[in-house]
Amino acid sequence: MRALDSKLPQVGTTIFTLMSQLAEQHRAVNLSQGFPDFRPPLELLELVERALAGRYHQYALMPGSMALRAAIADKLAALYSVRVDAAAEVTVTSGATEAIFDAIQAVVRRDDEVIVFDPCYDSYEPSITLAGGRTVHVPLTGSRFGIDWDRLKSALSARTRLVIVNSPHNPSGALLDSADFERLAELLRSYDCYLLSDEVYEHVVFDGAKHATALAHAELRERCVAVFSFGKTYHATGWKLGYAVAPAALTAELRRVHQYVTFASTSPLQQALAEYMTAHPEHHLKLPEFYQERRDYFARLLAGTKFRPLHAAGTYFQLADYSAISSLPDVEFARWLTIEHGVATIPISVFYREPPDARLVRFCFAKENATLDAAAERLRRL
Ligand code: PMP
Ligand code: GLN
Repeated sequence: MRALDSKLPQVGTTIFTLMSQLAEQHRAVNLSQGFPDFRPPLELLELVERALAGRYHQYALMPGSMALRAAIADKLAALYSVRVDAAAEVTVTSGATEAIFDAIQAVVRRDDEVIVFDPCYDSYEPSITLAGGRTVHVPLTGSRFGIDWDRLKSALSARTRLVIVNSPHNPSGALLDSADFERLAELLRSYDCYLLSDEVYEHVVFDGAKHATALAHAELRERCVAVFSFGKTYHATGWKLGYAVAPAALTAELRRVHQYVTFASTSPLQQALAEYMTAHPEHHLKLPEFYQERRDYFARLLAGTKFRPLHAAGTYFQLADYSAISSLPDVEFARWLTIEHGVATIPISVFYREPPDARLVRFCFAKENATLDAAAERLRRL
């Protein structure tokens, strides 16, 4: 047989896996891959046990448990005043990653262009490539990682099929506000183009800011798939559950893909989440404060080091400039820091098509204070 021609020749092992493996190998404090080291709420875990002891062992409904979709619709109404039809517009997926993949396969055809903003989450481009599309990279600008509207305008064309935005933004923590969505709506108005809005960190916003969802913009709502993740909201990234919200016709196409990617997502966890969301609608209301305390705690620790933190408006990531410590490029710096000094981070150049000449790494601060203390003790020695 001929050697297999890769459909994704540019793709290697993800930076998250590489850095977590390196961290384990060198017993480093792992602030690289984004996951909390604290547990989901105890009551949620009890509900999972109850679901497992009960009758939730067979396939869930293809679009997701009806109870869970109803809880999601209630939440969107209460939190964002966004009304959705739980039956026709909400689809539960195996993580936001699956929702992103399904949405891209549903709308992108051969040679269609998809605009992404760099630094850009790593799953978008491979999903676009597998759909036969072309990824057009538009860099975010400045230390606040804002959209350069002129560059976006020049990138848009009749070939553009999809634009992908991510707010709160991984890895920069930048937020889009409702004025940004208004501007985006104006630019997209004359194109036959969809919007994929990755809002997995919707509850991790700081300093009194409110998350702006693309779904709240009436015009964008018509062309938008918004994706969310239970992993982020319930400190359970390993459960791999998320959901997509889109108008009925778009949802129908997304489900055509979903039903042949996973068919349905894990049923006992869906049941437990539905019950927990109904009993504890206040859970996510406490998350901004919960994570802001961690952000501020970590910022105080970094103040005792030579790292210079950038402004962090949202997400559980903190970017920091290391140019006072080293002139190594970030991938080498991150390896050196892990191997020689026992702290693992994520270099951010890997999220760019054309990396800027910056000396930035990303720390994940979704960690117990003791973990952050242990990292800081090592970082102070640099
Ligand atoms: N989008 C972004 C921006 C993320 O950071 C993540 C989390 N890793 C995902 C999507 C994927 O979420 P999930 O773990 O639910 O698949
Ligand atoms: N989204 C997580 C991060 O940004 C990692 C997800 C993964 O490992 N694929 O760190």
